[in-house]
Amino acid sequence: MPAEQVCAPASGHVDVAIVGAGPVGAALACGLQDLGLEAVVLEARVRLEGPDPRAIALSEGSRLILQRLGVWDELGPHATPIESIHVSQRGSFGRAELTARDMAVPALGYVAQYGDLHGSLVRRMRACDARVLTGARVMAAGATTAYGMVRFLREGKEELLTARLVVLSEGGKGLPAAQRQDKDYGQAALVCTVTTSRPHDHKAYERFTPEGPIALLPLGGAYALIWTTPAQQVEARLALDDREFLQQLQAAFGDRQGRFLRAGPRAAFPLRLSLTHARHSPRLLRIGNAAHVLHPVAGQGFNLGLRDAWRLAEALADLPRERLGMVDMREYDHRRRADILGGSIMTDLLVTGFSNDWPILRQFRGLALAALDLASPLKTLFTRKMMFGARTW
Ligand SMILES: Cc1cc2nc3c(=O)[nH]c(=O)nc-3n(C[C@H](O)[C@H](O)[C@H](O)COP(=O)(O)OP(=O)(O)OC[C@H]3O[C@@H](n4cnc5c(N)ncnc54)[C@H](O)[C@@H]3O)c2cc1C
Repeated sequence: MPAEQVCAPASGHVDVAIVGAGPVGAALACGLQDLGLEAVVLEARVRLEGPDPRAIALSEGSRLILQRLGVWDELGPHATPIESIHVSQRGSFGRAELTARDMAVPALGYVAQYGDLHGSLVRRMRACDARVLTGARVMAAGATTAYGMVRFLREGKEELLTARLVVLSEGGKGLPAAQRQDKDYGQAALVCTVTTSRPHDHKAYERFTPEGPIALLPLGGAYALIWTTPAQQVEARLALDDREFLQQLQAAFGDRQGRFLRAGPRAAFPLRLSLTHARHSPRLLRIGNAAHVLHPVAGQGFNLGLRDAWRLAEALADLPRERLGMVDMREYDHRRRADILGGSIMTDLLVTGFSNDWPILRQFRGLALAALDLASPLKTLFTRKMMFGARTW
């Protein structure tokens, strides 16, 4: 039955209430299947699936999780493997190349259209009979020692749902957090597809420029471009005609991949770092972007959020139902904290350390990239962390 027709109790009590059916909330709903828990997903949008211009780089670790969730069989054929990643900085020496061959794996990661990824998760969520309430905008969420609760608006009516555990996966925009640390990068990610005169051969690029990183991710027969642009220049760059846009891109990226030939429709996303402290109480948790928003450099955000959802489902599987929301989640939180801090520090260092033209830093970066390329144990460790997260050794 389509999710839009599945009715959860309008007001009532459930084991787990998940707020937000984005890719992370949907992944959690899939992960809870077979646990024998009564779960409800509350989603503000009326239609779950819709277009989104982003392409998402999925790590090998995420592929394994999506496989276990029963999502990869549908998504895999639409995803493009990344066999190598070329990292460099414009106008200076130093480069590093990470390859799947060095790691003895078929691919370092995969690139999927955001819509394909989300659509596969939503269809899987429906297939495992998750109860989804669409058009339900949560206005407030909280917890007492006895229960968690969400107050939501649906079809103009305010309703209340209590749950043993409330999980916020609303993307960090919908609900206020008590303690949130925000950093505005003053940048936006300009995204579109581009074609190049040379075939991509499954090679991805991360090129650092003083303005910010430019990423090219192989996607089908083209590249997905993520061009970090100073916020004050975004509108002008969005308004360029294709010829001028491609010229500017060529000047910023260089000709390592040949000539840029065509560009698809462009969109832009503002970029910030946002971390929520006190992420958990026994009855109220945040996962995905509701807990952490990262710069897209190195493609970490969704991968981190998926690991949140997967680890949480694992932790809940080990709890007797009646203890749900009564034991503190210190172990879960401790394990996730290292991964989240590792990912956010790494992306923040890459953005701030590489988005400038200071000569000393440029030399240092060149040396760091050269060392990464030459020192095989360092390269293996770095690549493993990109593939499986900061807690991996
Ligand atoms: C340009 C760009 C490129 C990126 N590239 C990558 C990449 O390559 N790899 C990677 O891993 N990550 C990447 N990311 C990050 C990734 O897109 C996010 O981490 C991911 O989409 C977060 O998913 P989420 O489910 O946590 O939140 P969201 O996708 O924001 O979903 C939240 C859901 O909650 C719903 N909602 C919101 N408020 C309420 C409310 N009050 N009540 C009920 N429902 C509500 C929303 O409608 C939505 O459906 C990129 C991000 C950007 C901007």
